[in-house]
Amino acid sequence: MAVENRAGRYAPSPSGELHIGNLRTALLAWLFARSTGRRFLLRVEDLDRARAGSEEQQIADLQRIGLTWDETPLRQTDRGDLYRDAITKLQARGLVFECFCTRRDIAEATSAPHAAPGAYPGTCRNLTEEQRTHKRLERPAALRLRSEVTEFTVTDEVYGEYAGVVDDFVLLRNDGVPAYNFATVLDDLLQGVDQVVRGEDLLSSAPRQSYLRSLLSPEYDDAAPPLRYAHVPMVLNTSGQRLAKRDGAVTLADLELLGFSTAEVVAELLRSVGLPGDGTRSPSVQLDAALRVFDPRRLPSEPWIFDEFALSHPGNET
Ligand code: GLU
Repeated sequence: MAVENRAGRYAPSPSGELHIGNLRTALLAWLFARSTGRRFLLRVEDLDRARAGSEEQQIADLQRIGLTWDETPLRQTDRGDLYRDAITKLQARGLVFECFCTRRDIAEATSAPHAAPGAYPGTCRNLTEEQRTHKRLERPAALRLRSEVTEFTVTDEVYGEYAGVVDDFVLLRNDGVPAYNFATVLDDLLQGVDQVVRGEDLLSSAPRQSYLRSLLSPEYDDAAPPLRYAHVPMVLNTSGQRLAKRDGAVTLADLELLGFSTAEVVAELLRSVGLPGDGTRSPSVQLDAALRVFDPRRLPSEPWIFDEFALSHPGNET
């Protein structure tokens, strides 16, 4: 795939309204993609946690802050056949096994003193066909990847080289729903995505995802480069915890009720990443100005503490 077809993306789960931290990440993903000549895509990750009306609302908010994207957004629930095909391909290569463990089985096994923290302990990896036949009568199986490594290293624009655990993670849940780690990797590959900008909370998933991409790319896009990641610092509340809906005025609609226009919120978001913001100008004009001076190396590496009471209206800036 030619370089000009490569893309960056923002992939929200439609589980509620986007808050100011999500909007900031989306804006950074747009800046990273556009400043490197990539297409920018929006993907609706609705396999899990979808709430009625959220998708439309999220898209409307992303448009209001001035973001533009290059294709009609994909919705993961429309792509079941693609996920099934990819699993069949991995199965044919002996890279998938059935797992009958409950959460409790795994919690008990991983609390053993020699277990790797947070990693699947391998309970069902080597079951015999006879054992599997027996267990299938008890509960439906999840499908896990038979990983051939225990660690993988990724390159991150913010963190540099990051090595993390790769275990036999779930590809298909036992209710038949594709797992996030799998669906997101396949979609990135199929959509020509080679740049992933998202919140720092997902950094520990990157080694698993990047490893899976290396297994899937020969099937789909032989020339796919490894993903380039940028895990961006989170937005925290004034108590230093990850920002959440319960933290008061955190969505565009909430802030509007307090008298802040979308343009003012965009200005605040841009200033929070060290870029010029001017709340008297439209979001898209501000974004274009920010794009001209955006330099990923100058991104703050500290979390941003969001305090609605410290927001400024134009003219009140100190
Ligand atoms: N859908 C995921 C979320 O909203 C993000 C996936 C990703 O960016 O890889 O948390």
